[in-house]
Amino acid sequence: MNRPYNFSAGPAAIPEEVLKTAASEMLDWHGSGMSVMEMSHRGKEFISICEKAESDFRELMAVPKEFHILFMQGGGLAENAIVPLNLSRGATVDFVVSGSWSKKSRKEAGKYAAEVHTAASGEDSQFTTLPDPASWQLSRGASYLHICSNETIDGVEFQQLPDLKALGSDAPLVIDFSSHVASRSVDWSKVGLAFGGAQKNLGPAGLTLVVVRDDLLGHALPACPSAFDYKVVADNASMFNTPPTWGIYVAGLTFEWLKNQREGDAVGIAAMERRNVAKAQSLYDFIDASGFYVNKVAANCRSRMNIPFFLKDESRNDDFLAGAKAHQLLQLKGHKSVGGMRASLYNAMPMAGVDALIAYMREFEKKHS
Ligand SMILES: *Cc1c(COP(=O)(O)O)cnc(C)c1O
Repeated sequence: MNRPYNFSAGPAAIPEEVLKTAASEMLDWHGSGMSVMEMSHRGKEFISICEKAESDFRELMAVPKEFHILFMQGGGLAENAIVPLNLSRGATVDFVVSGSWSKKSRKEAGKYAAEVHTAASGEDSQFTTLPDPASWQLSRGASYLHICSNETIDGVEFQQLPDLKALGSDAPLVIDFSSHVASRSVDWSKVGLAFGGAQKNLGPAGLTLVVVRDDLLGHALPACPSAFDYKVVADNASMFNTPPTWGIYVAGLTFEWLKNQREGDAVGIAAMERRNVAKAQSLYDFIDASGFYVNKVAANCRSRMNIPFFLKDESRNDDFLAGAKAHQLLQLKGHKSVGGMRASLYNAMPMAGVDALIAYMREFEKKHS
């Protein structure tokens, strides 16, 4: 079976090997006589799946021991509330607004935090640039600073995480890394908490991954639901309530797949990162060299994962999408707030998929110019 290339922004493509393993284990996981979906989350089978997923992620992403890895539910949007419920402690929270997602997060935090302060915004540039950290207006005594490290809709990505200490702030950095988790390494020395929904780069929708430093646990506001209190979740090894067992299992298969990736002498996340750089570079180079397509994001903050682009003649959009589908290239339509096209090149997208997209774009351009 020849599967099409799927450029969806999320839920997104899952590596074919992972899908095949999940299919082959669907009726009987490792001789247990049960599907993973039918197991007690307190039984030894599922506990072994969950513990392995956690330790594989820790190893893959080099997560230091002072961080907890939590498997939660509610997605990135629920974390927009759960983070201030746990971390705001009645103080001001700072936001850098770099696109649609951080803007949404800021709005939600306003329901729970005493005060929300915008330290910087890229809105004046229609989110085609990232505000330089040296210009951020950090508030004194902020309980945390939130950034979205990869803006899925606008296609901007922090190539380096800001060093808040160097900017004179003791506030922990919170990153929403939903759409580039496990696509590159993370400098954990700069991070207090990271969260991400699984459905972009880790597996099926329904699982949210949270990585949180020890000292940030135990400060939840009284109104915080117990199931969303990071300390309660951590103390119960993500089993305070029934966790999203299927999502944890498929994410675990994805972590195993990631550990086995190789590019030259690089292995695991380093290999993935090398491949992601090459994939994105090849599409950006093609777009920049063409007079037919355009990407408006400044070169130093272009996302490796989500590449929005426009046809200069937008009357051909529907034609472009229909032709793409006929060429087995799916879900390229841009987000409604931005328009145009968007190619999401998550970990599961091979270089061959990017090559096929570029070949189609070249052919379409030739036909219409
Ligand atoms: C997809 C996404 C979310 C939203 O995730 P849900 O699971 O739909 O709540 C949040 N932040 C970013 C950056 C995303 O890409």
